[in-house]
Amino acid sequence: LQPKTTWNSPKFNNEKSVGHCTRVPRNVNMEKLQSGYLFPEICMREFEHSQKYPQAGLIRLGVGDTTEPIPDIITSAMAEHAHALSTVQGYRGYGAEQGNMALRKAIAETFYRDVGVKADEVFVSDGAQCDISRLQMLMGPNVSVAVQDPSFPGYIDSSVIVGQSGMFQDENGKYENIVYMKCGRENNFFPDLSNTSRTDIIFFCSPNNPTGYAASRQQLKQLVEFAKANGSIIVYDSAYATYISDESPRSIFEIPGAKEVAIEVSSFSKFAGFTGVRLGWTVVPEELLYLNGFPVIKDYNRIVCTCFNGASSVVQAGGLACLSKDGYRALIAVVDYYMGNAGIIADAFTSLGRKVYGGKNAPYLWVHFPGMSSWDIFSEILEKTHIVTVPGRGFGPGGEEYIRVSAFGQRERILEASRRLKNLYK
Ligand code: PLP
Repeated sequence: LQPKTTWNSPKFNNEKSVGHCTRVPRNVNMEKLQSGYLFPEICMREFEHSQKYPQAGLIRLGVGDTTEPIPDIITSAMAEHAHALSTVQGYRGYGAEQGNMALRKAIAETFYRDVGVKADEVFVSDGAQCDISRLQMLMGPNVSVAVQDPSFPGYIDSSVIVGQSGMFQDENGKYENIVYMKCGRENNFFPDLSNTSRTDIIFFCSPNNPTGYAASRQQLKQLVEFAKANGSIIVYDSAYATYISDESPRSIFEIPGAKEVAIEVSSFSKFAGFTGVRLGWTVVPEELLYLNGFPVIKDYNRIVCTCFNGASSVVQAGGLACLSKDGYRALIAVVDYYMGNAGIIADAFTSLGRKVYGGKNAPYLWVHFPGMSSWDIFSEILEKTHIVTVPGRGFGPGGEEYIRVSAFGQRERILEASRRLKNLYK
């Protein structure tokens, strides 16, 4: 085990190195970023712990990476495509920047069949996180943004990097000029929109990472109405939509009128185990217009052509296999397996008297430890059980008193984690 990006750790943040310095000033927005990105920091703690206890049998329920093998039908399609590249007939160079049309059609048909998203509105990419950054580049530094609190750190960090925020404020753990929409148990994990200031952009993730909460149809209707009334654009992240087991919408476009106010970002990472393979997509509806009437899709197309150049053709062949009848069925079996894990972990925490949220429509459990600091809970669990979780604070000030526990893991390890947790406070 190696720490991933050691130079992102707080130890290196804002610290000057000795040696030759160029005359290039550091980007002021990079200077504003707080103590490294959350997950590299956790990797660093994990690394230090495994150095201290090399025999402990660390169980990683932290970062939220998938663990189960990708079904053979999908890897075979990628291998076949890769081998064909070695033949005169099968060789292909650059593809369309927006993605292979067969895959764009398959995404539109699989995920948006009844909501009128056209293949031309689907932009295939190398993942949701990259698309979030490309959308930030599209919007530039002069827009105001709102995020759920807690939320996936990628939205805020990319906002800071492109210059949409002011400085970080130590007193409240928030950046200036970013609106934090509290989503806690007191408001059923959905923001109180009547008390939310207008922003140009609203990042909204459902099911949310980290709370695992999927917004209801009624709530999403409110969100779309709010965006319409304020002339805002929603950037809706549906990376976990395939984990939804109840009636909650799987796409923002299930809500009438959403095509005039929303962009949707999604990913093959968590439903197809493509976290390392890399494949995602973004839907930009033709109806979405700027203040001056110009279509957002035209600018997004320009960004994709200029800054991306298209997803790997080998990976797109895999994506197409994921959406075949047999491929999709095999993937849903893996999703069900992870959700079985979620039930086991939820039972373990519940047996300790802890209130567990999430874990029903998403592979994350959001466990409440009233009155405790989330980094303290993280450290205590790591020290006593050798299980890595994520401190809720890493997802925003609204994550204090919680940890996020990932249900991605091999069943044996999950059962072992459950045994260790049940003994934690004995
Ligand atoms: N969006 C959310 C809400 C996530 O939790 C993650 C990864 O954990 C991503 C996006 C990143 O997805 P990708 O692997 O497609 O970049």
